[in-house]
Amino acid sequence: MKHLLLLKYGEISLKGKNRAYFENRLVQNIQERLKDFSYILHRRQGRLYVECDDLRVISILQETFGLVEICPATKTSPDIDLIKQVALEEMRRYLGDRPSTFKVDTRRVNKQYPLDSMQISRMVGGYILRNMPNLRVDVHTPQTRLEIEVRDEVFMYLERYRAVGGMPYATSSGTVLLLSGGIDSPVAAYQMARRGVIIHPLHFHASPYTSEESFEKVRELTRRIARFTGPLRLNSINLAEAQKVIRKETDERYFTILQRRLMTRLANRLARKLKAQSISTGENLAQVASQTMEGIRCTHAVSELPVFRPLISFDKEDIVIKAKKMGTYDVSILPYDDCCTIFLPKTVITKPRLEDVEQEESRLNMEEILEMTWKTWKREYV
Ligand code: ATP
Ligand code: MG
Repeated sequence: MKHLLLLKYGEISLKGKNRAYFENRLVQNIQERLKDFSYILHRRQGRLYVECDDLRVISILQETFGLVEICPATKTSPDIDLIKQVALEEMRRYLGDRPSTFKVDTRRVNKQYPLDSMQISRMVGGYILRNMPNLRVDVHTPQTRLEIEVRDEVFMYLERYRAVGGMPYATSSGTVLLLSGGIDSPVAAYQMARRGVIIHPLHFHASPYTSEESFEKVRELTRRIARFTGPLRLNSINLAEAQKVIRKETDERYFTILQRRLMTRLANRLARKLKAQSISTGENLAQVASQTMEGIRCTHAVSELPVFRPLISFDKEDIVIKAKKMGTYDVSILPYDDCCTIFLPKTVITKPRLEDVEQEESRLNMEEILEMTWKTWKREYV
């Protein structure tokens, strides 16, 4: 095969005894993501290499959680004269006649090798310098950096493609991720998945008051998140009947917060069912009723499981940038009807007090509402 890619991972290498667990999962995820390409994946001495013909593999690997860098590399045998020669060829191919400062960095993984890393760097650097008069050595801030890894074979590389980092998907337990049709929650899903957390998306709709199109939009968002995670199953619950009851029985100013408490209870129920260990949302602190500190406190109070809000401190602008980058933004901004806005009253309390909320909620038969709503739970492949 034409190309050899060296895959670098960051934090996994710090995991000590658990390293194999993280590595195994990373390998499985890579295999899953590259299944439409022909490639060979090697795993040797704590390193992963991919041989492939198609360079589109690079962009897929760049989006694989757990990898920090992809380096197209050249392989040669560990003979020092050969190393010098191949290094020179590589530098010429990469730079042409361009002037540049450069540095050679060597890692000697094979401790039996007769030269140490400093000696190798110096010998190779000197040879390049003698043959490429346009170059100058700069060991502190070189414009061009040739890295050499001496193992049973020798690898060298000049180019590096940054990858997304994080931890391999599915190395942590699950979270029930509250997925609306908006901009924020898909980004929240990405942030959690990037730490290895398994995502169980849950969408609340209010069919027939919300349209089939708005549901389809959430399916499409789920598919786009799945680009990073592998196939996802979308959970959905119909809130319409519960919303009607809440609207009828309680002070309308508490509608939003009571609805969110109901969502949180249902998310906990689903989490127990799926053995997920947490709930995650796209909430971030802003002046809407449910996302003030007081609002969040009142919602949080009914959650047995921890609720993660990975976007809590983000500016909207930063969330938009992330949404565009992960490819969900253009779907999120499609016009749609949201279950949260269908029954929305004219006035809301932005700083609810927990005692007042509980008082208001006590007008409802919560057990009955939960049972009735839970019955509408569906789970589908998207
Ligand atoms: P988003 O852009 O994610 O919709 P938002 O800024 O519009 O967020 P809200 O509508 O108040 O904020 O929702 C806050 C969070 O609550 C969402 O990020 C999502 O996690 C959850 N949520 C809201 N509506 C729904 C829904 N219909 N189904 C599932 N989760 C929801
Ligand atoms: Mg929303």
